[in-house]
Amino acid sequence: MKGFYGKYGGRFIPETLIPAVEELEEAFEAFKKDEYAQKELDELLESYAGRPTPITYAKRMSEAYGFELYLKREDLLHTGAHKINNTLGQAMLTKFMGKKRIIAETGAGQHGVATATAAALLGLECVIYMGAVDVERQAPNVKRMKLLGAEVRIVDEGSRTLKDAINAALKDWVTNVKTTHYLIGSVVGPHPFPEVVAYFQSVIGREAREYFEERGFYPDAVVACVGGGSNAIGIFRGFVDLDVELIGVEAGGTGDDPGEHARTLGLGKPGILHGAFSYLLYDENGQVLPVHSVSAGLDYPGVGPEHAYLKDTGRVEYTYCRDEDALSAFMELSRLEGIIPALESSHALGFLLKNRERFEGKKVLVNLSGRGDKDLGIVLGGEL
Ligand SMILES: *Cc1c(COP(=O)(O)O)cnc(C)c1O
Repeated sequence: MKGFYGKYGGRFIPETLIPAVEELEEAFEAFKKDEYAQKELDELLESYAGRPTPITYAKRMSEAYGFELYLKREDLLHTGAHKINNTLGQAMLTKFMGKKRIIAETGAGQHGVATATAAALLGLECVIYMGAVDVERQAPNVKRMKLLGAEVRIVDEGSRTLKDAINAALKDWVTNVKTTHYLIGSVVGPHPFPEVVAYFQSVIGREAREYFEERGFYPDAVVACVGGGSNAIGIFRGFVDLDVELIGVEAGGTGDDPGEHARTLGLGKPGILHGAFSYLLYDENGQVLPVHSVSAGLDYPGVGPEHAYLKDTGRVEYTYCRDEDALSAFMELSRLEGIIPALESSHALGFLLKNRERFEGKKVLVNLSGRGDKDLGIVLGGEL
């Protein structure tokens, strides 16, 4: 069925939003077929964002751990992570629809910065909704967004975090849908958002596959961290039809109790969140559970519906990495390769290092979704 991945996905939204998502779906289909628009996007990805990103063979780390480690270097992109692939794509789609205004919501602030960046580049008005608690926690990103010309609207209702920011953004969208595009940051939300974001992120997998095909082999396994799931879908799509193991790594936090992790696929159950049917973390009363890990970018109580489907079919293995293992991977990659990875990406690496025997002699491709400069304060604590 259209808009579904197996039984997951769909559109569980108020009637008032149906025309907006239908308009988006139509524009997205036209955008994909428009050669001029595609060329413009490719040009921006190259000349502005820094694509294609290289693949680095991590020689010293491979020698130390007994596998062959390849890194897809999304950390080298402008603004420091894969998020710019999606925000540039959707900002172009906004213009394609003849709209002049972008809204988004952000928790950790990374998606807000990537959205404000794309809006500045394309001359679009930009409003970012952010919970008051998050504004306090992510002060440098708030400054970045303002510097980039975005208006940051502080949401002081409910838990004053991402959930409330999403509600505020939805309210804005309903009111201003004629002029405004809601730029969602991961492969989540009602159809067609998961497909739109997957489309813009699949450039990662396409480039990676080309790299291996030019060399006459494929990796044995591809590993990526999973928050909402966009960088993982982006790289998995390049290999899903091949005999290559695909592994998604969720934030294992400090333990298995509620509030100690973000293992939506590992410990959650199917339900409806943010307009789509997928796995999520909730209690017996249907209340969405709080999630927490060392990496704010992975702390989302839901996950994209395509991942739910890939889990049920068994095509992708979903596992987790604890905070401490992500932190030691962060240190290891810094010392052995001179690359400081984002804490999110460190979860993919941490899983690999922890399970080195399983991957002995194997070629493993890790999606290095972002760089870790933003995480130094958390990792080094008082030392900075
Ligand atoms: C936001 C972010 C993630 C998590 O988002 P996905 O949609 O799961 O990719 C992962 N890595 C980095 C560096 C991020 O900034």
